[in-house]
Amino acid sequence: MNEAAVSRAARPAHERRRVSVLGATGSVGQSTLDLLRRNGDQFVVEALTAGRNVAGLIAACHEFRPAFAAIADPALHTALRDGVAGLAMATGSGDPAIAEAAMRPVDCTVVAITGFAALQPIMAALGQSRVLALANKESLVCAGPMITARATSLGTSLVPVDSEHSALFQLLACHGRDSVERLYLTASGGPFRTWSLADMARATPAQAVAHPNWDMGAKISVDSATMMNKGLELIEADRLFGFPVAMVDVVVHPESIIHGMVAYADGGIFAHLAPPDMRTLIAHALAWPRTLATPVARLDFAQLGQLTFEIPDSSRFPALGLARDALRVGGAAPTVLNAANEAAVEAFLAGRVGFLDITRVVEELLSRAPNGRLAEINDVLAIDQDTRRQAAALMAAGRLVSAPTSRSQG
Ligand code: NDP
Repeated sequence: MNEAAVSRAARPAHERRRVSVLGATGSVGQSTLDLLRRNGDQFVVEALTAGRNVAGLIAACHEFRPAFAAIADPALHTALRDGVAGLAMATGSGDPAIAEAAMRPVDCTVVAITGFAALQPIMAALGQSRVLALANKESLVCAGPMITARATSLGTSLVPVDSEHSALFQLLACHGRDSVERLYLTASGGPFRTWSLADMARATPAQAVAHPNWDMGAKISVDSATMMNKGLELIEADRLFGFPVAMVDVVVHPESIIHGMVAYADGGIFAHLAPPDMRTLIAHALAWPRTLATPVARLDFAQLGQLTFEIPDSSRFPALGLARDALRVGGAAPTVLNAANEAAVEAFLAGRVGFLDITRVVEELLSRAPNGRLAEINDVLAIDQDTRRQAAALMAAGRLVSAPTSRSQG
């Protein structure tokens, strides 16, 4: 057998990494399964979960044969159980079953559930999973200090999957934290980068989710269109890397080739470049601290021609300033920012509010954020629920401020 054939030959199960994928039916989840499919000799799938896409979950179970699968919607449990009958695996439904999937001892848990719903599974996975490959950013925004403290005390490594944070994580690992002068998060600018406010006021959900570079789930696509995604990422960077927020800049880079940059005191800047394909970043987390080959298209600089950069326009995209405000205020404010945003994005996607109303709802709710520190996860859950109630009442009453917000990007 030649060397390539040896490396392709299946390794014994105990030598393969055990991986659970939470949110296996979504955009990041499917990209993860693609990598697991291509590297079946290196990984064993322990658990898979989904929200409501039971057909997608059943198909993944037939292909990857996990020991356990869970669907968040309890009404779909019978369909799941019947769909995997004969596969010698266990199934469950509802939030407790998602947490049960997260609690299975594995080498790596990929957290690709969207939104605040990932928080409890993340808390459940800490200590059970050697590595948490974190795509979900909303949980870090809401409960970052609790997640990082618990990860440290229970010995779980947090490896970011979000492209900008994966880039910074890799750059800081290579070049160190000493004499870091600035961190740069790049932003594509989203589908409305060049749109006027008048056009954005009429934007439809279909237009908002049509991202120019990335193929992502609906919620993060809308976040990208408002640039709240970058606001959430500023807070995520604070949680993961702990540099003062004044040291973190956002630069619009429409080609989405550079994902993050770190500037050092000697004037040098290191950048992480890769095509806009999440499989590069997921592969890094799956194999960390090793490397996994991917089929991602390689960069062709002659074809690229040029890379361009812009300063974010804070008058058309006030979300960045709102996120900086929330981070500065601290306490409940980041949780309020996230919950108001999730509620408003859901309402926008359902056609109940306009595109510009999303950041108006966030700004209004942020102005009402209660003072005080969040001591435990139950405090975070309570603030989240209360904010969603207030956001629903605000949107139902149609009492949104009429003028678009305009904040400086601090
Ligand atoms: P998707 O909407 O494509 O997928 C979300 C996944 O979560 C699906 O499997 C979905 O199940 C599941 N899910 C939804 N609601 C629940 C719930 N209440 N309980 C349990 N599972 C649930 O999202 P993305 O893959 O785009 O994003 C996932 C996360 O990764 C987000 O936090 C996002 O910000 C982050 N991220 C995504 C990137 C991307 O390129 N997509 C890039 C960087 C970060 P079902 O399919 O059944 O609805």
